[in-house]
Amino acid sequence: MKNEKAVVVFSGGQDSTTCLFWALKNFKEVETVTFQYGQRHSKEIEVAKEIADELGVKHTVLDMSLLNQLAPNALTREEIDIEHEDGELPTTFVDGRNLLFLSFAAVLAKNAGARHLVTGVCETDFSGYPDCRDVFIKSLNVTLNLSMDYQFVIHTPLMWINKAETWGLADELGALEFVRERTLTCYNGVIADGCGECPACLLRKRGLDDYLQLKEEGR
Ligand SMILES: [Zn+2]
Repeated sequence: MKNEKAVVVFSGGQDSTTCLFWALKNFKEVETVTFQYGQRHSKEIEVAKEIADELGVKHTVLDMSLLNQLAPNALTREEIDIEHEDGELPTTFVDGRNLLFLSFAAVLAKNAGARHLVTGVCETDFSGYPDCRDVFIKSLNVTLNLSMDYQFVIHTPLMWINKAETWGLADELGALEFVRERTLTCYNGVIADGCGECPACLLRKRGLDDYLQLKEEGR
């Protein structure tokens, strides 16, 4: 893969930034694409742009506001609370998001001469999102190849690792501090360690604490 080009689906968060470092290590050329779909915090787009600039990779922002028009959700609407009831999809789930994002990323990639797509979806900390499952990604990969008669390969470096291991991967790539200080995961739009209260911050912190503890114990 060293001589080839990849497009990273990039949100400026912990996971996709770790994927970006992974791609920079594994491909000759890397570009990023960020989707604007009416996120509560437009800061996400700014953070993604800053990181891409700093790492010297091309960054494209695509307008996907139609997604908010079609599927109102807690990530885009202030009046919808972030909730996860047993047996139901969380209110942060956006119907069709990864299907649409990866499809558009593939169109962009093909036109940029890249056949590799990188995404931070993960089945391990499975919060019930059907479009984060490996079987969905493999199915979409086949569909994209058939639709454009092109040999795409969708890479999911985080698919089978947990949050602590994702921090471990960032560390292995020499990017632990960068990911910790520069990325935005928080639902309340607070960069780095975040607000400390929302579900995204709690998940991120638990993973980091676990990883740092394991590291200290030399495991
Ligand atoms: Zn937060």
